[in-house]
Amino acid sequence: SQVLTRNGRDKALETLQRVYGYDAFRGQQAGIIDHVIAGGDALVLMPTGGGKSLCFQIPALVRPGIAVVVSPLIALMRDQVDALRQVGVNAAYLNSSLDWRDAAEVERQVAQGELDLIYVAPERLVTPRFLELLERSRVCLFALDEAHCVSQWGHDFRPEYLQLSILHERFPTVPRVALTATADEQTRADIQARLNLGDAKVFIDSFDRPNITYRVVPKQEPRRQLWSFIQTHHAEDAGIVYCLSRAKVDDTAAWLAAQGRDVVPYHAGLDAQTREANQDRFIKGEGVIVVATVAFGMGIDKPNVRFVAHVDLPKSMEAYYQETGRAGRDGLPADAWMAYGLSDVVAMRQMLESSEAPAEVKRVEKHKLEALIGFCETAECRRQVLLNYFGEVLPAPCGNCDTCLEPVETFDGSIVAQKALAAVYRTGQMFGTGHLIDVLRGTVTEKITKFNHDQIKTFGVGSDMTKQEWGSVYRQLVAAGFLKVDHEGYGALHLTQAAGPVLKGQQGIRLRRDNQAAVKKSLRAQR
Ligand code: ADP
Ligand code: ZN
Repeated sequence: SQVLTRNGRDKALETLQRVYGYDAFRGQQAGIIDHVIAGGDALVLMPTGGGKSLCFQIPALVRPGIAVVVSPLIALMRDQVDALRQVGVNAAYLNSSLDWRDAAEVERQVAQGELDLIYVAPERLVTPRFLELLERSRVCLFALDEAHCVSQWGHDFRPEYLQLSILHERFPTVPRVALTATADEQTRADIQARLNLGDAKVFIDSFDRPNITYRVVPKQEPRRQLWSFIQTHHAEDAGIVYCLSRAKVDDTAAWLAAQGRDVVPYHAGLDAQTREANQDRFIKGEGVIVVATVAFGMGIDKPNVRFVAHVDLPKSMEAYYQETGRAGRDGLPADAWMAYGLSDVVAMRQMLESSEAPAEVKRVEKHKLEALIGFCETAECRRQVLLNYFGEVLPAPCGNCDTCLEPVETFDGSIVAQKALAAVYRTGQMFGTGHLIDVLRGTVTEKITKFNHDQIKTFGVGSDMTKQEWGSVYRQLVAAGFLKVDHEGYGALHLTQAAGPVLKGQQGIRLRRDNQAAVKKSLRAQR
């Protein structure tokens, strides 16, 4: 009833102020909390730092009984529980880090109804023993944190999450709230289907992180470019540098350290103790840079990370959003910087191809990678492209990304594209960009001679352009879907159906002017 709703709302606000000491709810918090207090199911999509925790903690405190919070992040559980205890909330956690004595004590507290919240790992929750314990208790809410873990399309699939659908069957009257910071439409639908949340109300907060400046530079000499970026903009700031491989993490960390920065490496190849120590140093230190694989970051809450740099291409737009989202959580200006080259695309595609995943998963992942490439190659506002991927429309260019700040020049690339595509066609669609550029520029190499490619019509028709310029043209043609990179391993380019009209001169195309030359110049100036 109206009265009850108002009552719930008053109680929620009163709890926010009394327990947490905050004045008002942010964004969609009030609506979500109202809905959940009233017993409704909810799917909450909110960016990192948006304030998801209160969306289940406050209903947990307002509704009589115990709230069960499912989280895959054992390290984070303790932090959250400690924080809650500090403000006087009766909270505890159950996971594999507790010895049997402590676990038994927590179970006793659950059974006695002494707790407002219990944090539990998914594999623990679905044990018959724990489910029976819950059936004997008064459960007021299930909160399923990091809900994207249930989806294979997400970047962090956890099979244990699939079993959480039984909660709905075993506790049909208990409201459930699923929360995530990262979900495109497909992942969202997957969460709803797999967790039986078809009827849940969906709350989507804006994913925009206006204080983050997005920049993507064409990869040329990645180390130097990275160093130039860090030196120029973040000479004393804390930041994260993401690399694809462990070896590259080690190399890059050593290199940055040699330049005089305080650096720690982080990847799954380091032992747990070293990882923890390095993470600790990054979080507690001043101006420490962590060089890491994607193993680093989930659940990291350091507000003053001033930059996130990608030396290699992330796996998807979601991964990119998630990883860059670790910058600037304090709301102050921060940079998301990425160096991007065609070799990354080839490497990522090879990784996808060689994975053990089912064909359908691979297909989706490939699609996601394509979206990210499009983001890298765009001449439009990057924020618009990024938000659009998450189904959000930013009405005007943002004014805070590289393409807004330094608009890229585009030109009529129809003829250039025709030449580039013709080189692919006339060499039998068997070669990568390096060789194709040699053909276009009329460079005689052993390979050119071996295949008689100095005899074909396209040989030398592109001698007026530099290697770098041709590289950029090929990247853009790949990004725009006119060419496909062969996944078999050699990076050979194939024409797609879309290439036909361009090749025949029936369709014009605009390309962005290559800015490799500018990059080179700035690097030279630095030396
Ligand atoms: P998320 O889980 O979405 O990443 P958190 O729940 O950790 O975000 O919240 C991020 C920060 O914002 C926390 O420090 C939290 O205390 C703070 N916060 C959340 N809601 C409010 C609010 N209504 N007013 C002030 N601070 C808030
Ligand atoms: Zn922009």
